[in-house]
Amino acid sequence: MEKRIKEAVRYLGFGKNAADERTLSLIGEAFADLEKEADPRFVCRFFDITHEADGKIRIGTLKISSRSLERNLKGCGKIVLFGATLGPGVDRLITRTSVMDMAKAVIVQACAAAMLEEYCDSRQLEIGEELEREGEYLRPRFSPGYGDFDIHYQEPLMRMLDCAKTIGLTMTDSYMMSPSKSVTAVIGVSRTQERCPVEGCEACSKTDCEYRR
Ligand code: SF4
Repeated sequence: MEKRIKEAVRYLGFGKNAADERTLSLIGEAFADLEKEADPRFVCRFFDITHEADGKIRIGTLKISSRSLERNLKGCGKIVLFGATLGPGVDRLITRTSVMDMAKAVIVQACAAAMLEEYCDSRQLEIGEELEREGEYLRPRFSPGYGDFDIHYQEPLMRMLDCAKTIGLTMTDSYMMSPSKSVTAVIGVSRTQERCPVEGCEACSKTDCEYRR
């Protein structure tokens, strides 16, 4: 089964149980609709980072307090700041579908989440390939809201990426992104090759890794 379909099935909560034929067919339709509506864009910028004595991470003038991010970035002297969106057409598709068929809208939501992951993974692989030529290696993507990396950091990260201008991504006062199928993340850059899978620590077999998020 195609990776994006497997991911959508997982987001729909089927776990290890196979999805039924009807669901699989709706997933196929949802991806076809999404392909028409999505206008994926991304932005990335490199920043040097400092590991402060108090355990905080400094990126430019921003200081981040997160033990899990600090652990994940150990040994990294810089990061890639990354932002991506599937664009407003996907939100319009979700809204249109929910008016007509709520069950299908749930499937479109799951497929859109899987599509965003797939898009981020492929952009990250490209960035990683370029860096490898310089002898530098990427750690996994780490987004605000994950672990103890507070969601409030989304706002300064989006400002540092100039997301509104570069990819048309903004945020409401309650930290909801617009377009909703969007992501920001910090990705560590290290001189040590850890062979981190693009899917992140959850998909990695190195359970004793000191950088595990
Ligand atoms: S657990 Fe795996 S993916 Fe996570 S930081 Fe370590 S090597 Fe990389």
